[in-house]
Amino acid sequence: MPTLAKKEYCTGCTACEAVCPKGCISMQGDEYGFLHPVIDAEKCINCGMCEKTCPVNHPLKNENEPKAYAAFIKDEAVRMESSSGGVFTEIAKAVLSDGGVVFGAAYNEKFEVEHIVVENEAELYKLRGAKYVQSRLNNTFKDVKKYLDEGKCVLFSGTPCQVGGLKAFLKKDYDKLITVDFICHSVPSPLAWSEYVKYRSEIDNGGKLPEKIDLRSKKTGWSRYQYSNLFEYGKDKTHEAKSSESLYMKLFVGGNICRESCENCKFKGYSRVSDLTLGDFWGIWDIHPEMDDNKGTSALLIQSEKGERVFSRITDKLTAKSVTLEEVSLQNSAILKSTAPNKKRDEAFKLIREGKISECSKLFTVPKVSFMDKLKNRIRSIIK
Ligand SMILES: Cc1cc2nc3c(=O)[nH]c(=O)nc-3n(C[C@H](O)[C@H](O)[C@H](O)COP(=O)(O)OP(=O)(O)OC[C@H]3O[C@@H](n4cnc5c(N)ncnc54)[C@H](O)[C@@H]3O)c2cc1C
Repeated sequence: MPTLAKKEYCTGCTACEAVCPKGCISMQGDEYGFLHPVIDAEKCINCGMCEKTCPVNHPLKNENEPKAYAAFIKDEAVRMESSSGGVFTEIAKAVLSDGGVVFGAAYNEKFEVEHIVVENEAELYKLRGAKYVQSRLNNTFKDVKKYLDEGKCVLFSGTPCQVGGLKAFLKKDYDKLITVDFICHSVPSPLAWSEYVKYRSEIDNGGKLPEKIDLRSKKTGWSRYQYSNLFEYGKDKTHEAKSSESLYMKLFVGGNICRESCENCKFKGYSRVSDLTLGDFWGIWDIHPEMDDNKGTSALLIQSEKGERVFSRITDKLTAKSVTLEEVSLQNSAILKSTAPNKKRDEAFKLIREGKISECSKLFTVPKVSFMDKLKNRIRSIIK
């Protein structure tokens, strides 16, 4: 039987499933809600394609040093709907105007997140905004190849490991393929996300799902991480929480609900195999305050000649400033470093599996120290 990446390194990118000539690999959920490849031993012919294609076992490399910019789009309305500076939308519009298609992550009617294909500008709103959960790729890699083989331009946007997986699956460079990845903290569990949506809907709306969810609402601003989570249940019924106060964001940022492979990420670094890398330009308010108006600024890294061509096509739609790579990572270590392991991860998942996600809040409460204990500690430190 072929040897795929170990569970703690496997990103679930689906390259092995897509490349298998016998269709004997299926993606199946684990106890944390993450998809992993499972080989049907009876059908497997041991050709080794899956093993050779795995981007974790055989990482692709780009040795070029990217150029970096702080940027935001001039279209204010679209920028306000986007997570950071809205640069993704201008890249997507350029590809669509060439008759191309755009693959990215969208919510379905149950607020699960999966990759879809968009063929016109009017539908780009579905892809805008970060959804903090690992998206299901389904057949995306094969669909991308189909469009490319038909001679269409394709933009694929996803996590660095999804872009790595797609490139590994395709095996060759296509001039008409543009890939965009982003600075990625980690991908949270689809199980945790669906439990959270269920919990919110119950306490906010008698169990009925919201009409809209925006985890990166800028109603409360963007600078200094002031964005909020917004659940809209109708015209006058909303739940809004600053990201720093949202239970889900605490679980995500704390690494309590991330995929194990995010703790051992092989796709970090300034240089990526994508053509363009996007991110929030956290810290821009200190580094280049003239590029921060509290409406969101993107970090934009140009990774390849193709990326450079796209950038030159959209520069007149952007306000952009050249920056150093160190400035990008100064307050955004996720570009270089994996998520730190969290000791309370198993405890969080136990509660989530039991349908008690709200009780995860106790993982963040700091135990109160009584006055007497404080006094004893003080005396002990003086005696020492
Ligand atoms: C899980 C996750 C973690 C992130 N962590 C960081 C971080 O630590 N630091 C940082 O600077 N930036 C991070 N980002 C990226 C950031 O939030 C923005 O997506 C990025 O700055 C692009 O913003 P934009 O305004 O140009 O476009 P937007 O319109 O906001 O970007 C939307 C794009 O993101 C893609 N996308 C959204 N959700 C997902 C998903 N779940 N899986 C795959 N693709 C998705 C869409 O397909 C679309 O292409 C993260 C994004 C996600 C989804």
